[in-house]
Amino acid sequence: MSDAPPAAPAALRPRLDATAYQALTDAARRDPKRYWRKEMGRLDWIQTPNEIFDDSKGWFADGKLNASINCLDRHLKQRGEQTAVIWQAEDRDTNLHLTYRELHARVCRMANVLRHQGVKRGDRVAIHLPSVVEGIVGMLACARLGAMHVVLFGGFSAEAIADRLADSGAVLAITANVGRRGAKRIPFKVTMDAALALRPDALAVRTVLVVEVTDDPVPMQAGRDLLLAPLLADASTECAPESMNANDPLFLLYTSGSTGKPKGIVHGTGGYLLWAAYTQEMVFDHQNGDIFWCTADIGWITGHSYVVYGPLANGGTVLLFEGMPSHPGPGRWWEVIQQHKVTTFYTSPTAIRALMREGDDVPARYDLSTLRVLGTVGEPISHDAWAWFDDVIGQKRCALVDTWWQTETGGIMISPIPGAVKEKPASATLPLPGVRPLLLDEKGYPIEGAGEGILCLDGSWPGHALTIWQDDALFKTTYLAPYPGHYFTGDGARRDEDGYYWITGRVDDVINVSGHRIGSAEIEDALAADHAIAESAAIGIPHDLKGQSIVVYLVPRHENADGLAERAMKIIAAKVGRYAVPEIIHIVPDLPKTRSGKNVRRLMRKIACGEREGFGDLSTLADPGVVKVLIEIVNRGD
Ligand code: ATP
Ligand code: MG
Repeated sequence: MSDAPPAAPAALRPRLDATAYQALTDAARRDPKRYWRKEMGRLDWIQTPNEIFDDSKGWFADGKLNASINCLDRHLKQRGEQTAVIWQAEDRDTNLHLTYRELHARVCRMANVLRHQGVKRGDRVAIHLPSVVEGIVGMLACARLGAMHVVLFGGFSAEAIADRLADSGAVLAITANVGRRGAKRIPFKVTMDAALALRPDALAVRTVLVVEVTDDPVPMQAGRDLLLAPLLADASTECAPESMNANDPLFLLYTSGSTGKPKGIVHGTGGYLLWAAYTQEMVFDHQNGDIFWCTADIGWITGHSYVVYGPLANGGTVLLFEGMPSHPGPGRWWEVIQQHKVTTFYTSPTAIRALMREGDDVPARYDLSTLRVLGTVGEPISHDAWAWFDDVIGQKRCALVDTWWQTETGGIMISPIPGAVKEKPASATLPLPGVRPLLLDEKGYPIEGAGEGILCLDGSWPGHALTIWQDDALFKTTYLAPYPGHYFTGDGARRDEDGYYWITGRVDDVINVSGHRIGSAEIEDALAADHAIAESAAIGIPHDLKGQSIVVYLVPRHENADGLAERAMKIIAAKVGRYAVPEIIHIVPDLPKTRSGKNVRRLMRKIACGEREGFGDLSTLADPGVVKVLIEIVNRGD
């Protein structure tokens, strides 16, 4: 293991300015093929593509490459001894610095183990692990063999895992004996066993490889389960990579399930990898010596593109943290930033709101002066959370990027670019060069200039998903059919007079009260400014006269919530308008959230409408128990 300290953080000298941004945007618009022919040079190709884009063949159709070569082998000459991954254990004193050379060797060993277990090109391999290095290693090992990884979020229940194993047809699963969460042990392997037992006939898993994170005992089933460490120790550190077509799938990943049944999104090798690398460099102003920390679990697309593929394709250094933000104390994340001199920190509005609640004196105890770029993703960020992140964490020195994108887009689409696109608090700002958003009205006509409407994307971009696993028809009906000729995002947005985009929430969540269209985010943003309100969710329910009326679920910060509902009504009337004042405010202890931390408004809508069953797939909820609590509160009429 190398303990060499990483190079000093780069100076605050962004690589792009406003003129360069405009020039790139113009070039990409004028001649997209030429633009992407140049940009594809970011990757090492086994066979350089001649075909850049074609509607039916997709991106770089005749190109050949391997993603693991791009993330590992090609860096060995220049940066073999540079740290590729810093792993910080939950325990303060334990960490690991893996150089590119060491990571390469580990990936080759893992790929050889998988190959030996019969994994072939095109097979699916499930990865269900806590935040340990083997997750990254497993993903890149699959890429080396041309097998598709299917990363399953660590917190999934046995049912959620079984659904995804069945849908994907995974032949092998990698899991851990346990995961650590403070003093608690999360039984990964036991959950995997339960998943495999749920419907043995529907599952193709032949082998389960087990990472021993601790020395806790682990149940093993002879003939199926194998401990990974001894197999790795015996495997060679060299493994010939497969030559993949650009549009061969790299992975299959299920969406968060905020709006219903998760979709198995398939991404290709060439276009996706280019998009991850291009956006990571541009949006995070990637420079030599950066220590890049994206807090997302690798089980989400954010973890795929910005823990693994983007930064490693760019030869960066990523930080992977095993623990939680709040253990052993509320300053743990800030301590990790100080300890590892993190320069770039990418997280979610949900996490920021939770950390804000702990008070400003917590981050004040740590040295955060190495930070240069801060980012958020996943949900609209409220003005007050944006300001806190900028002020208390960024100390007004840092660029703050609110990045809008989706599992389906592969990487960031709309975001400020440090030095080049000036921020406006709580706005995702402008599209990256090569991205062409447009707003449509309800009839599907484009809105010119400032206005609010349905966010669609014109043309294609290299990160565009290939399809939904084994359901190309669903892919077409979901994204391509609603507004023919455009990609439908499902989100609503407002465009201001400077052309900046403000995401207003999901189109399905837009509330229409007597002809006034109100985005859920507008109401929630207004309420977030009140210090007695931890968070809120606004939804619309049918109303005889007004079309819809508004219901707000409100989580108070303190136990005593006297007078809070009345105050919330006043805030909404003052900041949004009288037409947006809710009919009812329910004071609740918590909101139903996906495991990726997003509000599930479809459930809140059903509960507010008096429905008591037929809630559909609840496996993506972080805490399904919340549903019962909300039903009781709504029944009581609180
Ligand atoms: P499902 O598609 O299964 O309902 P999901 O849409 O939550 O789940 P993701 O692909 O992880 O799954 O999330 C993408 C969505 O997250 C976007 O469509 C958008 O609604 C929201 N989102 C992401 N980033 C931002 C952002 N910066 N601002 C506002 N909303 C965002
Ligand atoms: Mg979605």
